[in-house]
Amino acid sequence: MNEYMKKANELAKYSMENNKGGCFGCIIVKDGEIVGQGYNTVTSDNDPTCHGEVNAIRNTCKNLNTFDLSGCELYTSAYPCPMCLGAIMWSNIKTVYYGATPKDTANIGFRDDFMYEWLRLPNEETLKMVQMNRKECVEVQQIWLNKKDKIEY
Ligand SMILES: [Zn+2]
Repeated sequence: MNEYMKKANELAKYSMENNKGGCFGCIIVKDGEIVGQGYNTVTSDNDPTCHGEVNAIRNTCKNLNTFDLSGCELYTSAYPCPMCLGAIMWSNIKTVYYGATPKDTANIGFRDDFMYEWLRLPNEETLKMVQMNRKECVEVQQIWLNKKDKIEY
C-alpha cells in the first residue's frame, strides 16, 4: 500500500474509532514530505465543513504559513465531495490521490450524489439561489479591482 494513502486511511479509521466524525482521512505531501494532515471532525466540532480534506488544507496552510499550496499533492481515503474539490482547487493543489470511489462512499450512506446532480442540473428543491442588489455588490467589487495594496490569490 502507498505509504501516504496508508496514513490517510489510518486517520480515517482514527476519526471513526474516536467518534470525531465520518471515516475519512487526508494527508498533504510536498517534495516527498508530509506537510499536513486532517480527518473528518464534522460531528465532534459541530461543523459541516470539517471534512478530512478541508481540515488537512487548514492544517497544511498553518504549518507552511501560506494560503497557496502549489506544489503539494493530496492523498484522501475517499473521492472528495464538491466542497472539498473546491477547497483543493482554491488551494492550488494540482494532484489528488483517492482511495474509495464516490460509489463506495454512497454505499455507506454519504450523500455527495445530490450535490453533483445539482451542479449538473440546479433545482430549487435542493438549493434555491436568489439574486438581489447586484449594483451595490458590484460597487464593492470595483473598489477591490482598483485597490492598490491587495494581496491577490
Ligand atoms: Zn468533502
